[in-house]
Amino acid sequence: MPVKITDVKCAVIGRNPVIRIVTDQGISGYAQAESGKTNVKPLIPYYKPYLLGEDARNVGRIMQKIRRIGAMKPWGSPVSSIEIALWDVAGQATGLPVYELLGGKIRERVCAYGNSENNSPVFSPRSPQECAEMAAKTKEAKEGFKLVKMPVGFHSSPMMNAIPNEWYGQHWTGRNFPYMDRGVMTKRGLDYVVSCVEAIKKVLGDDIDLACDCGPGWVPKDAIRFARAVEPYHLAWLEDLITGDYTPYPNARVFKEVKDNTETPIHTGEELYLRENCTDLIEMQAVDVLGPDPEDVGGIAELKWIGEYADLHGIQMAPHGIFDGVFGVAAQVHLGAAMGQNYISFEYAKGQPDWWYEIVDGLPNPIVKDGYIDVWDKPGLGITFNVRAAKAHLAEEDRDFFE
Ligand SMILES: [Mg+2]
Repeated sequence: MPVKITDVKCAVIGRNPVIRIVTDQGISGYAQAESGKTNVKPLIPYYKPYLLGEDARNVGRIMQKIRRIGAMKPWGSPVSSIEIALWDVAGQATGLPVYELLGGKIRERVCAYGNSENNSPVFSPRSPQECAEMAAKTKEAKEGFKLVKMPVGFHSSPMMNAIPNEWYGQHWTGRNFPYMDRGVMTKRGLDYVVSCVEAIKKVLGDDIDLACDCGPGWVPKDAIRFARAVEPYHLAWLEDLITGDYTPYPNARVFKEVKDNTETPIHTGEELYLRENCTDLIEMQAVDVLGPDPEDVGGIAELKWIGEYADLHGIQMAPHGIFDGVFGVAAQVHLGAAMGQNYISFEYAKGQPDWWYEIVDGLPNPIVKDGYIDVWDKPGLGITFNVRAAKAHLAEEDRDFFE
């Protein structure tokens, strides 16, 4: 029997936009967008006419209609979240977990990596000592992460402006200049960033692997010098050295120059929207690891396809997801279960604030054990809202979200 879409809604719960696809069969599909993406909610009504009356099980057909109407981060978010919510409906309608619809289970448990930005009171470390403190906090996290990521270089503006003469260029201060610092580093500056990595690795030891979120903003030669200098630490990857967060293009040729000149794996991709924007990076073998975010790239089936294509080119996958919320974690678990053998891990998101864990049913407790999540088998994404508890957190303008 068709499962016709009768409404598409969006409410901001906590800081995360939440998408609800309503159907005539009493099934609702949910997904989240990354926290703080205030652009999502006003855009959802724009996509609604493309969905109304469609059978929600025809995810591919609906995506053909709307995937063209999006762009790089943050403008791929509405389409991506709709895609994930559609899979949630399709899974519930067929009685199958979403990973079955994506091709079936490759693995029984999925590796989740932690980000110090989610585990420490300090968001952006300034000094080797602050780096060491953040690393210790992340190491102590109850999730028992085997792989963690920390911000260094231009991804941590305080670090790049902590000592005199660290780099040449304009420092853009304040919250309204996202990741805009860029330029050539001095020897002193580059050595300082290396000393921060050294301090982190000293705390983590060999039991926990380290990835560093580094930019964007490095010039190619500094990126190469840095990647070579940290080779002894056997890092999992260096992320976004050249382009990345809120850069509306991936600069594949420059990434390739960096990647070809170091043993340290090079990673990018969280801003990417659609497979079409990944082809240069993949076909030129410009990076070692690709990390699109399911809530930005066009959804989980889109990311699965990119992963398969990357595998043909010797590229590994480690999807981004730090602020994707608990529905984002559910989407990543189903996706991760079905990804090929070039899959490493996904970036774990927390429910923030903590009451998120009280308004959602179906999550295991604990969610992450020794750095891994056991894949669950309930239909759809396998989690849903405890409507009574969730209603208490709806804003006045979203009062009818669950109706
Ligand atoms: Mg990043």
